[in-house]
Amino acid sequence: LDAKQLAKDTAENIKKTDEKINAFITVDEDAKVAEDLNFDNKLAGVPIAIKDNIITEGLKTTAASHILYNFEPVYESTVVAKLKAAQATIIGKTNMDEFAMGSSTETSYFGDTKNPWNLNKVPGGSSGGSAAAVASGEVVAALGSDTGGSIRQPASFNGIFGIKPTYGRVSRWGLIAFASSLDQIGVMSKRVKDSAEVLNVIAGADDRDATVSEKEVPDYTAFLGKDVKGLRVAVPKEYMSDAVEAGVKKAVQAKIDLLKENGAIINEVSLPHTKYVVPTYYIIASSEASANLERYDGIRYGFRAEDAKNLEEVFVKSRSEGFGDEVKRRIMLGSFALSAGAYDKFFLQAAKVRTLICQDFAKVFEDNDVIVGPVSTETAFDLNSEISDPIKMYNNDILTISANMAGIPAASVPAGLSETTGMPVGFQIMGNRFDEGHVFQVADFIERSN
Ligand code: GLN
Repeated sequence: LDAKQLAKDTAENIKKTDEKINAFITVDEDAKVAEDLNFDNKLAGVPIAIKDNIITEGLKTTAASHILYNFEPVYESTVVAKLKAAQATIIGKTNMDEFAMGSSTETSYFGDTKNPWNLNKVPGGSSGGSAAAVASGEVVAALGSDTGGSIRQPASFNGIFGIKPTYGRVSRWGLIAFASSLDQIGVMSKRVKDSAEVLNVIAGADDRDATVSEKEVPDYTAFLGKDVKGLRVAVPKEYMSDAVEAGVKKAVQAKIDLLKENGAIINEVSLPHTKYVVPTYYIIASSEASANLERYDGIRYGFRAEDAKNLEEVFVKSRSEGFGDEVKRRIMLGSFALSAGAYDKFFLQAAKVRTLICQDFAKVFEDNDVIVGPVSTETAFDLNSEISDPIKMYNNDILTISANMAGIPAASVPAGLSETTGMPVGFQIMGNRFDEGHVFQVADFIERSN
């Protein structure tokens, strides 16, 4: 394998494909390729794309925001350092919703990404660029981040695999923070096995992130190629409600039936606090975001507004011009939820409900190995159809955000096309904390049935 040539061809192909898709913010045409490839490294010479909220030393990192449009980091994120040590090639940075806030990649400062299955549809979000890059064949695998579904929902909209690992499985050092108690880096690829190989590399302890577990990282490929006999599979009735589009429900039910036919034990269960997850999540995530985004002041890095008359004006003008509407909405919502007088009623209340949501999951995992259902209530929607209605956009996340609040691993694996819309449907698999193994096992089984 001539890795240099592969990197060059990949970059050229991305440029061409991206005229239609716009999956990348930055393509590194001079991507550094590892010397003396050692093919014991499964990723040796493999071009990988990185969501643009993950720091890459010397390569522009924007979080798809005007406020970081020219930011060139002087240090490396842990995940990228690990990929480089495993001899992967970092080929470029993918488009996303600004600061990972959104479900359609339409809040990016760098324009919309299009869904490769249908250019009039959104790719989902916030990791829409990573998903479209994989689905269109620009790269084999990409890193994404998932705070409330941002890996799984775009994976489902693009008919690819995506996994959000357990909170604390992968280092967040160098991930531009959105909501620190929910954010997790994960992987997207067409094949389940490729994500297992990438997770093998990026998972594990890191002195720079105290929330990462010291737990040993198993070889995730060891969970592939197995059957599902005796596996205990929970189906929450709240996830198969009438709110789910008929075509999505049918495709998901077909996979549940398949698991059953192959000897899995299917248990209908309840996650009774599901109806509260959207407001709870948006209070917690926005509160954390309002604190995390304080640092963008026009002084330290990125965009600085011109013609400010004093320091106060530098802050106000830079932030007013540098942040988009959705980001401002979250900062205001979060600042309010944390303010004296509102704190008890909103933030504290949400934190308590979060505990109840965690308990719902703990109870189900007492007698089940995995929880399954749809990733999203619908398939990829039309560009410009929801972006002006934030509440509608937020409600998209009802089936994905619980996993972040509970910190559990969750994945989306393709389950065919919706009969109603003809677009890809994602099958969600959630596991107990640090039990990515069962998630991979079921995902791989479903993939082999497709
Ligand atoms: N759509 C959710 C939000 O806008 C989740 C985003 C994410 O996971 N980064 O907050």
